[in-house]
Amino acid sequence: MDNCIFCKIAAKQIPSKLIYEDDDVLAFHDINPAAPVHFLIVPKKHIATLADCTNEDAALLGKMSLLAPKLAEQLGCGYNAAGDGKGGFKTLFNIGPDGGQEVYHLHMHVLGGPRPWGRSMA
Ligand code: 5GP
Ligand code: ZN
Repeated sequence: MDNCIFCKIAAKQIPSKLIYEDDDVLAFHDINPAAPVHFLIVPKKHIATLADCTNEDAALLGKMSLLAPKLAEQLGCGYNAAGDGKGGFKTLFNIGPDGGQEVYHLHMHVLGGPRPWGRSMA
């Protein structure tokens, strides 16, 4: 998709602080973090919003959801459910103008780290 910033990041035309990449998705740090850890999980396929997803995208959305706790763990903000019950993170999709969406290429925010966080997205 021309002029889509996240398509350009996926195509390596714009640099990002990459965390993870496979054939379907990539994850990179948000340029303007709202929490001590704030990264985005982004499909390589251009889909404008969650509201544009169809049943064909179910596996992709599942993959994005399952990646969130794994990458959060790698970045030190996993939820230690089986252990001390500490840690944890938030996942978030913004959808459309009233949802506060700024970039119209599907992305899941993952936010974590010790609270309080600065810029509120809670
Ligand atoms: P939205 O409001 O669309 O859900 O969130 C878009 C997010 O993308 C924002 O948190 C913003 O900081 C981030 N962002 C926008 N442009 C870039 C960029 O060029 N690189 C990175 N890494 N993040 C970006
Ligand atoms: Zn795109």
